[in-house]
This record gives sequence, C-alpha cells and structure tokens, in this order.
Amino acid sequence: MKVKYIFIILFLFIFSANAQFKKYDKTLKLMGSRFDISVIADSPEDGEKYIAIAISEIERIERIISSWDKNSETTLINQNAGIQPVKVSKELFDLINRSLQISKITEGAFDISYASMDRIWKFDGSMTVIPSAEAIKRSVEKVGYQNIILNANELTVFLKFKGMKIGFGAVGKGYAADKAKELLQKLGVKGGLVNASGDLNCWGKQDDRQSWKVGITNPLNKNKIFSWFDIDDRAVVTSGNYEKYVNFNGKRYTHIINPKTGYPASGIVSVSVFAPKAELADALATSTFVMGTGVGIDLINQLKEVDCIVIDDNNKIHTSKGIQLKNSNKS
Ligand code: ADP
Ligand code: MG
Repeated sequence: MKVKYIFIILFLFIFSANAQFKKYDKTLKLMGSRFDISVIADSPEDGEKYIAIAISEIERIERIISSWDKNSETTLINQNAGIQPVKVSKELFDLINRSLQISKITEGAFDISYASMDRIWKFDGSMTVIPSAEAIKRSVEKVGYQNIILNANELTVFLKFKGMKIGFGAVGKGYAADKAKELLQKLGVKGGLVNASGDLNCWGKQDDRQSWKVGITNPLNKNKIFSWFDIDDRAVVTSGNYEKYVNFNGKRYTHIINPKTGYPASGIVSVSVFAPKAELADALATSTFVMGTGVGIDLINQLKEVDCIVIDDNNKIHTSKGIQLKNSNKS
C-alpha cells in the first residue's frame, strides 16, 4: 500500500513538474542572418534569461570570426597576411584547425581561404555577362588552405601570402548554433533548438515530450515539405541554391564557389546534412555543393553519424545510406 502511495505521489510530482516546462521562442537577426532560438524552461523569466544567454554567446562568436568587424581576431589575421603570424585565442585556433581538416578530407572543395576571391560573381541581379575565363582563373590565385600556417605551440595563424584572406561564411552559423547549445546544456537547460537560417542544432525534447522536427522542403515548391524527420540531440544543416544565384545560358550558378576553378558550384539545388555538430554539417553541406552529388554522398557515407539528402537540378533526390525517406518525393 505504502509503496503504491509513494508511487502515486511521485507520479503526480513528476507530472506536475513536467507540466511547468514550456517552450519559449525568439526570432532575431544575428550574424546578418535570421536566428530562431527555442528553449525549454519552467517559467517565462527563465525562458527569457536562457535565450538572452544564447544570444550573447552568438554575439561573442561573431566578434571573433567576423571579417567585417575591424577588431576581430579574424580581421587581424587577414591584415597580417604575408607579413607575420598572429597570436589568437585557442577557440579560433581550433576552429581554423578543424576547417583545415575539412579541407583535407574534401580535397580542397571546402576552403576558408575562399575569402580572398575577387568578387567577380555577384548574386544580387547586377551581373549581365559571365566573367571571362581569365578573370575567373585570376580570382582564385590567392586561395589555398595549404598556405594557412598554424603553430599549435604559439597559437599563431599565418597566411603565407599578401592578399590572402580567411572567412567563416560556410561554418560560422553552424559553429554559433553548436556553441549556444553547448552553453545552455551546461547551464542545465533540458531542451532547446538553435536554428541559424537553416543551420540548426538541438537537444532534449519539445515541451510536449515530442522530438524536435525538421522538414526538408520540396525543391519544386518551397512552401511544401516532402519529408519530416524527428531529431534528437543532433544537427541538421541545409544549404540551398535558391536564394543567392545567377543564371547564364539556362544554367544556374550559386554562391558556393569551387576554390580550385573559381566557378560557382552547379548541378545541385539543395543539400541537407545530419551530423552530431552543426559546424561539421555546415562545412559538409557547402563541400557537397562543390564536390557534386556522387562524390559528396560517397564522402558522407564514409563518415560516422553523418548523413545527407541531396536534391539535384533535375529535382532528383539522392540520400546517403542512413536516410529513409517517409514520404519520398511526394507533392
Ligand atoms: P548559406 O550561408 O547560404 O547557408 P553555406 O553555409 O553553404 O550557405 O555557405 C556559403 C558561404 O560560404 C558563401 O556565401 C561564402 O561566404 C562561403 N563559401 C563559398 N564557397 C566556399 C567554399 N568552397 N569553401 C568555404 N566557404 C565557401
Ligand atoms: Mg555551409
């Protein structure tokens, strides 16, 4: 009897404790992009507090990696290209180091030194003719991750040649989502989701005890989802060619550039990568655009806990081994 009584009390306690937990959301612009942040908390005050903590963490990261900020460590590295090594924080050093590893496994398809590229491709509608082959070739002369020299003992970064530049356009948002998650988890927040314009990481459950869900949009109709996925403690990043692109002779060129050729990637409409970290997923989504469907999926199939969905420009869906589509290619 007594045991049963305790059990019922315990049950009620757990039930009422859970009932207090709710999802609190906020949408705002950070790092020049839309961020949607959700946290599970037991009061609106706590919800707001934790969202504010996530925001300041993302702003902190932006101050380190921004190429626009005159005072960022990244700007300092770029200003000293060809001149001298620059001492940086362990955090930025490690981020650059991991980026170089992605460059190696993608054989240079991913390259943070893309940033030195002359801006010969414009995706704001102002381009009327395709740049000359010569100009395109010249534009990537200073690109080359092999010339980013790291010294782990001194924590320095040196860009070997004048005019070289690094930028985190392809991993920064994913990294920020990871770091905000990590911090909130450390503070004991039971669940949350940080979505940086399609680069997201989450943990725990939604307030109704359901998993977080992510929908992959139908390339034929951006307002339609063709498949939903439950995600637990995982990152999903989508890179698409439907926002920043330019058309020449019926071919679409997107804002992701092949660092070796200077030509924008083509052939793919969208790539979604599932991985333990949004930073890795972000980098791999960008890389897959450059490597192409076959090579990209082959690489992802070799990586543990990483999967992807690629939609090519014939609207054909390709997936890595670990993906089962529920409503494959419907609607
Ligand atoms: P989005 O930010 O639109 O989601 P991505 O995460 O794929 O898209 O990042 C694209 C950005 O990455 C580009 O706008 C540019 O700043 C940078 N970039 C372009 N090509 C490369 C590349 N080959 N390697 C690394 N970064 C790149
Ligand atoms: Mg990316």
